[in-house]
Amino acid sequence: MIEDKNQSRTSLDQLGEFGLIEHLTKNFDIKHTSTIKGIGDDAAVLDAKSKQIVVTTDLLVENVHFDLSYVPLKHLGYKAVVVNLSDVYAMNASATQITVSIAVSNRFPLEALEELYAGIETAASFYNVDVVGGDTTSSTTGLIISITAIGEVDKNNVVYRSGAKPNDLLVVTGDIGAAYMGLQVLEREKEVFKVNPQNQPDLDLYTYIIERQLKPEARKDIIELLEKLDVKPTSMIDISDGLSSEIIHICKQSDVGAEIYENKIPLDPQVISTCEEFKIDSTTIALNGGEDYELLMTVSQEDFPKIKGNPNLTVIGYITEKARGMNLITRGEQAVPIIAKGWNAMKNEA
Ligand code: ADP
Ligand code: MG
Repeated sequence: MIEDKNQSRTSLDQLGEFGLIEHLTKNFDIKHTSTIKGIGDDAAVLDAKSKQIVVTTDLLVENVHFDLSYVPLKHLGYKAVVVNLSDVYAMNASATQITVSIAVSNRFPLEALEELYAGIETAASFYNVDVVGGDTTSSTTGLIISITAIGEVDKNNVVYRSGAKPNDLLVVTGDIGAAYMGLQVLEREKEVFKVNPQNQPDLDLYTYIIERQLKPEARKDIIELLEKLDVKPTSMIDISDGLSSEIIHICKQSDVGAEIYENKIPLDPQVISTCEEFKIDSTTIALNGGEDYELLMTVSQEDFPKIKGNPNLTVIGYITEKARGMNLITRGEQAVPIIAKGWNAMKNEA
């Protein structure tokens, strides 16, 4: 729960910008033949071959998107990569390269950036992507990280948010709501720590949900699974802002409605028990929590036999004609309209 108190502190001024870039990037190896030129020239050079290229970028700002009082820098580096790759996979593409840009104040010693880059490197190697460039500059106070991810996909396989058709099944991967509940626990412990710094929190009951918040994974495995099952979703999106908001995106862009069933939403037991402890409704968290980085997709009814019974894929509802709207069918069999609350809105309410 404590900001990284590094024993040794090497000031960034000692290295200079080029020394720093060289130091931070020296371990990155090239894994893809599509990377013609990586770090070291004015721009990277990639070979598109006959694929379509997907590009996505994210910006993370200290104290807006992350809080270094409980996020270790190594985890932050890992997560910054993961959130970008998740967007690549949501296009049914495979991720091949990333660029990493940082703005950093002299509050951070070299050792802090080494930690950040250790996380970036771990993710790059786990997800098999090349780090091919970036930019490094100073900031007056905090840390800012921007990552751009590049991926490739056969032109016939790209999946947009706009292809859902009435009667398609709505399918979600993994389980949802855990990252948001992990954040609630971390925020609570931060408050306790402020009052009593000697108090060492006991987080055993919350290991899964905290891991989902601090070290989320992107569903590369699902893209591979879909290929193996020979299923091309009709639409897909990653769940970064909460299930409600993502369902609304798919429905609006596909010009359809949807019906989902409360009792089908996949929740981990730790989410259920922590929601009980915090006296919050777990369905609300599943619908409006954020940062799960699971995938929400629509699959044609014809493909149902191929996905049926797969533990990674849960059917939570189906697509309807637009006129039927977007509804949650509760355990009490009532239809409740799905509205986007988004997790930022919830955070401000809390
Ligand atoms: P330029 O002056 O053309 O912007 P830089 O000196 O900033 O070039 O960068 C030199 C090389 O190092 C380029 O290949 C750039 O993409 C890469 N690079 C710079 N900063 C980073 C970083 N933080 N992480 C990874 N690569 C970086
Ligand atoms: Mg530069």
